[in-house]
Amino acid sequence: LFERVARLERMELVATLAGGIAHDFNNVLAAILGYSQLAATQLKQEGGQARVVKYIEEIRAAGQRARELIQQLLSFRRGGAVQPGSAELAAIGREAVGLLRATLPDTLAVVADLDAGLPRLSVDPAHLHQIMMNLLINARDAIAGIGTIRLTARRESFAGVQRCDSCGHEFRGDFVAITVTDVGVGIAPEHREKLFEPFFTTKDVGQGTGMGLAVVHTMTHLYDGHVRVESEPGKGTAVQVVLPVRLLQEGAAA
Ligand code: ADP
Repeated sequence: LFERVARLERMELVATLAGGIAHDFNNVLAAILGYSQLAATQLKQEGGQARVVKYIEEIRAAGQRARELIQQLLSFRRGGAVQPGSAELAAIGREAVGLLRATLPDTLAVVADLDAGLPRLSVDPAHLHQIMMNLLINARDAIAGIGTIRLTARRESFAGVQRCDSCGHEFRGDFVAITVTDVGVGIAPEHREKLFEPFFTTKDVGQGTGMGLAVVHTMTHLYDGHVRVESEPGKGTAVQVVLPVRLLQEGAAA
């Protein structure tokens, strides 16, 4: 029976991750399509070549990212286990912000405020990227008018007891905190309990899969981390992922 439960849990995990990868893949395609269009427009203008080179670099980066995502999927099919690699938080954060920026309308901006002094983390870089991407996409989708999205990463010390909004466990102490803040519509109180359920979405068909936060929950808890949500309807939302400081690889400063 134990084996069956473990197998079911594994299948659920893989389904969750696959859903999340599809979510991110969509965003990568949006970057490729957006930048190709910009490049084509720019080529028609005089002296626009330097910009075109930049756009082509963005397209290449997005293409590489797409290849990594597919490799992730293939490794699950082969039954590959989660690989806790070494992740440079600031670099991954900058990459995620760059990808999101390519999908933003003119009314939205995204800024990264990443503590450069953080050492590497013993986390699969693809997981960290996925967590940040999913939170950034939600922040983007929450803002209807003008606004700025902020991604921050720093060490955080919780003196008082905190409660994880996705697993309900209490925690305190030292963590690495990754936070995405938006000035969007906020989360209705009656939705708070459902946020992390797979397939829960308030977005239109074709816009949301309801897998974003389920994936964030799964990936965060793989590393004994937690998720905190602060939201005020009409004002905005901050979603914070905290990972234990023991994941920091001391002496390997980024
Ligand atoms: P999806 O983005 O596909 O809907 P998620 O699991 O990422 O799936 O999010 C589930 C729901 O949680 C969203 O549809 C939305 O209602 C709500 N939500 C998540 N993040 C935010 C946010 N930053 N602001 C407002 N609502 C949010």
